[in-house]
Amino acid sequence: MNNTAEIIYKENTKDLISIIVPCYNEEKALPAFYRAVTDAVKDIDGADCEFIFVDDGSKDSTSKILESYSNMDPRCRYLSFSRNFGKEAAMYAGLQNASGDYCVFIDADLQHPPELLKDMYHVIKTEGYDCCAGLREDRSGESPLRTFLSRSFYHVIGRVCRLDMGDGKGDFRMMNRAMADSVLELKEYNRYMKGIFSFVGFETKWIPFHNVERTAGETKWSLRALFRYAMDGILSFSTAPSAIAGTIGMLLLFAAMVAGISSLLSGHGLIGIPLVICLILGLNGVQMLFLSVLGQYMSKEYMESKRRPIYIVKKKGGF
Ligand code: UDP
Ligand code: MG
Repeated sequence: MNNTAEIIYKENTKDLISIIVPCYNEEKALPAFYRAVTDAVKDIDGADCEFIFVDDGSKDSTSKILESYSNMDPRCRYLSFSRNFGKEAAMYAGLQNASGDYCVFIDADLQHPPELLKDMYHVIKTEGYDCCAGLREDRSGESPLRTFLSRSFYHVIGRVCRLDMGDGKGDFRMMNRAMADSVLELKEYNRYMKGIFSFVGFETKWIPFHNVERTAGETKWSLRALFRYAMDGILSFSTAPSAIAGTIGMLLLFAAMVAGISSLLSGHGLIGIPLVICLILGLNGVQMLFLSVLGQYMSKEYMESKRRPIYIVKKKGGF
């Protein structure tokens, strides 16, 4: 191609934005989502969009709805997993199958405002950022217990992992190809996307948005699932728990020695026995806890060593 032809070619070529949507039992939310997002992206200057829907083993009619979108709209592609592999796996699959110059993750329940897509693209294109992400400013519409637990978790993870994973910094973000490729380079089985985004670096601009309740359907996160997710996050990005375990272990050993010596020196005989029993029980409990911390790391390593696929696709459409 000569220079003039190349310039004309470039001028005529629009960017492609891949909109990646993890979906798990979202039959109630999808119609409103599809309408709202197609509406929000119809007049983005300089860019076309494609949808990469990932049905994460839904048990409702999500897969049928996605198939009908892909038959009706050439911009819609979908993957259907053979079972539920989790949101992290769905996001990874979406990114692997996205061909866009820019990729954005967005939830199917309209809790991530589609109007921001245009602003995100604009920020990356004109302000020189690699990534533009939504920063959820509040947690209205969420139960107080979940808010408290989530805030505490982000406080702990921020200190323990030394990565920028604050409260409100979620998965709703658009990134350029360089950052998307870097995220794809991290092929670990135990995936924790918020940590991965922070780990790969790149310049990110945060755009605040208000939390809204999901349009339809229900959250897929029980407190138990959230706790597991939180533990995965900490164990995937920090070995601090095992170091903390060691330090507390030493402190307890020291406390046990002091208690033992003072109980011997007190000369009150019986008074010392309950103390010793307490110490034995306490120290055993702490030992079990720390063994479980080490066990958790070993089990993660065990799962990684199997090199199992992160997800399995049952069906694809629109590609
Ligand atoms: N999701 C998924 N797989 C799962 C759980 C959730 O793909 O195992 C999707 C879900 O369909 C939604 C997004 O992840 O698009 C966020 O889930 P949800 O709204 O339940 O989470 P919350 O907003 O309550 O944190
Ligand atoms: Mg949601």
